[in-house]
Amino acid sequence: MGVREGFEELYGAAPQGVWAAPGRVNLIGEYTDFNEGFVMPLALPHTAVAAVSRRTDGVLRLHSADIEGPVVELRVDELEPLTNTSWAAYPAGVVWALRSAGHPVTGADLHLASTVPTGAGLSSSAALEVVTALALNDLYELGLTRPELALLAQRAENDFAGVPCGVMDQTASACCAEGHVLHLDCRDLSIRQVPFDLSAHGLELLVVDSRVKHALGDGAYAERRAGCEEGARQLGVSHLRDVAYEELDGALSRLPDERVRRYVRHVVSDDHRVERVIALLEAGDVRAIGPILTDGHVSLRDDLRISCPELDLVVSAANAAGALGARMTGGGFGGSAVVLVESADVDTVTKAVTEAFAAAGHTAPRVFPAVPAAGARRLS
Ligand code: ADP
Ligand code: MG
Repeated sequence: MGVREGFEELYGAAPQGVWAAPGRVNLIGEYTDFNEGFVMPLALPHTAVAAVSRRTDGVLRLHSADIEGPVVELRVDELEPLTNTSWAAYPAGVVWALRSAGHPVTGADLHLASTVPTGAGLSSSAALEVVTALALNDLYELGLTRPELALLAQRAENDFAGVPCGVMDQTASACCAEGHVLHLDCRDLSIRQVPFDLSAHGLELLVVDSRVKHALGDGAYAERRAGCEEGARQLGVSHLRDVAYEELDGALSRLPDERVRRYVRHVVSDDHRVERVIALLEAGDVRAIGPILTDGHVSLRDDLRISCPELDLVVSAANAAGALGARMTGGGFGGSAVVLVESADVDTVTKAVTEAFAAAGHTAPRVFPAVPAAGARRLS
């Protein structure tokens, strides 16, 4: 049953519209967003799809076809941050963020279903938030831009649901374009669409879901973030974005703490990797980004130390089987990796990774191609 039919069955009337918002993978640029640096995500073909109608009586009704349980019913004027720990905190948080910003959202009925794998580092939560934000923007004729919707969605996740994250995930879901990777400058939030037509080059980007669940809330994210802020403070800059790659060695020699040095080296070098990837993609030399992806993984593994054995195994097994490059992607400690491969080598590389997981006794990974898809949109 589609979301339109599901909506009618639940709420007894047709929805006023249906919207979709994708999950994302980050090609390169990890833990750089809160350092006001660069990230480069692309939208996945997997989407959260929501059927929505507006209401004028202050009632918010939420339902997910993917979650067991009844319709969640809330009042928009009683939404309180950090009080709802269920999935409904994400769409409810968007309503709260819109209302907190002064937008007159007076209620909604929403029913959604999503094909974005959850907890795999592919931003199923951002897809949920952005699809809600876009639907309400259209239904209430708020006239907000995509980047503005992304910021409100981030606010919903940070302040209402209580999950710390940068603005990359929501911006990717809201702003990506088909056949492109998005270059986001996290300082001024300016965006640029960089062509990423893999099939024209005989290439594929595989997403390998390690099936290890990440838990960003366990303090590791906050610890890395604090370490980066400490590094910036000791170097006398507002954010690590301001340390030029050419000055990295000198900057590192001024940092007494080995841990802070590693974090700084990761962030400054990953910003530089983003710039090199953009230059190569714009020159049409897509294959040459492979080794940069692998360098990025080594940096996340050895300097930032946010990888895990399963993600390291994806990268080593894929590269040994002829991949052009690979790296973990997202918050780390599990989740997914991306692997750049020749189209002709997809089966060989997939088999090699799957067999390596079996030999190590890990749960079988899930492998699928990341075809750069469109950002959030109205479907009907
Ligand atoms: P990620 O965003 O990496 O997938 P998160 O832990 O940030 O992982 O978000 C996953 C959470 O988002 C789920 O636990 C659930 O609360 C919510 N969510 C994602 N997809 C759905 C869905 N289809 N229906 C209801 N809730 C969902
Ligand atoms: Mg998330």
